[in-house]
Amino acid sequence: MKTDYFRLTFSSLSSNELFARSAVGVYALRLNPSVAEISDIKTAVSEAVTNSIVHGYPDSVGEITLEGFVEGETLHINVFDEGVGIENLTEALEPFYTTKGDDERSGMGFTIMKSFMDEVNVESEKGKGTKVYMLKKLGIDAK
Ligand code: ATP
Ligand code: MG
Repeated sequence: MKTDYFRLTFSSLSSNELFARSAVGVYALRLNPSVAEISDIKTAVSEAVTNSIVHGYPDSVGEITLEGFVEGETLHINVFDEGVGIENLTEALEPFYTTKGDDERSGMGFTIMKSFMDEVNVESEKGKGTKVYMLKKLGIDAK
């Protein structure tokens, strides 16, 4: 059973992206992370939450759930939405793949999450939503 965890549910407004990344940054402090580690975690969360806001709920405002828990020196962060889901997950995880190439999206969100976290797993079902599971082992970098 998880003894050290949080769960936040918020609406998919872009103003909540800063809220989500800040909340995770503060939660992670209990693991005594380096400045670089905090920055990596916040960037990954920002990418996942922005995806839920922009792609998960393109024409509506829905719910996003952010949860985190600690296991030893590993921080787990999960981001869930109940939005439109991802049509082709294999393609979506590739660098530079985007379904919104017409505006400022570059298709690098999942690649950034994978490079800044130690593990990233994604589950998605069309019409049902998307779940992003990430973890980072802390205390490895020099403080
Ligand atoms: P960038 O993150 O560089 O701004 P992007 O969001 O298009 O661009 P990724 O974050 O790598 O790139 O996501 C790739 C694609 O996966 C998106 O273009 C979108 O089609 C799909 N996608 C990602 N997250 C979700 C989600 N939560 N719900 C629905 N589709 C998603
Ligand atoms: Mg993205």
